[in-house]
Order: sequence, then C-alpha cells, then structure tokens
Amino acid sequence: MYSFMSSFVVLSALIVITAKSEEVYKHEELKARLTPLQYHVTQERGTEEPFTGEFNDHKGTGAYKCVVCGTPLFHSDQKYNSGSGWPSFYDTTHKSSIEEKQDDREGRVRTEVVCNKCKSHLGHVFKDGPEPTSLRYCINSASLTFDSTEQKDKEEL
Ligand SMILES: [Zn+2]
Repeated sequence: MYSFMSSFVVLSALIVITAKSEEVYKHEELKARLTPLQYHVTQERGTEEPFTGEFNDHKGTGAYKCVVCGTPLFHSDQKYNSGSGWPSFYDTTHKSSIEEKQDDREGRVRTEVVCNKCKSHLGHVFKDGPEPTSLRYCINSASLTFDSTEQKDKEEL
C-alpha cells in the first residue's frame, strides 16, 4: 500500500512537472540567475530609480549587452550624458537587435524598446537626443551587462 501510494505521489509530481510550460522554466531560471531588480525591469517592464544604476555614469570602451541573452545592443561610442539619470545612447549597435513597441502606460504614449531576441524590457526611446540621430535611448542599467573585451584587445596590442 505504501509503495503504491509513493508511486502515485511520484507519478503526480511527474505530471505536474511535465505540465509546466517552457515559459515557467524560463522565468524560474531567470529568477535564480538575475538580481530581483534585473528580473523586475526586464521581465515585468520595471524602471530602476534614476541616478542609481551601475551604468549611468559608467565610462569605458566596450559593448553593452542584454543581461538576459547577451545580444550586443549598444556601444560605448554611442553613450552620452543626457542628465536623465539613466544610461543614454543616441544609437544602437544594430537596428535589428532592438524592437520598438508603443507603450500607453502611465497616461502617456511612449516608445518602449525591448531586446529583439529575448523580448526583455530595456527602456524607452525618445526623439530629443543629440545629432546625428536625434534619438535618446533611455535604458535601465539593470537590463544591461558591460563587455570590455574590445578595450582588452586594444591593451594587448
Ligand atoms: Zn535579450
């Protein structure tokens, strides 16, 4: 009887696990891998407090990549100080790396930008940036990792 019951429990557990969607696994894996803020910003379309992100005043040569999937999104050459309190870029590394979406939340219309590969929320793009694009990609530090490989390559020369 006991072994029958334990088999039943194991079988039930297997059914529950099998029934979990890939999405659930993805979210659990991300929750374990990311900080709570990184998870909130990228998966729940959150916004970090201005002037608090690690890349707001960050300088150095290299690539800013998606914290979730590692896709290169911006380059340090495209970063500028907008004074907004968030890392700001006037252009992207590849236009195809970023998807734009209309965001009607908070009673105004903004253009949300997400990683085209994994759909993580990055921030918003505004049309008040500097030349030559007049764009301001206002990005959460929590959505990014910094890869200074390029700088290392230069040092090795
Ligand atoms: Zn991504």
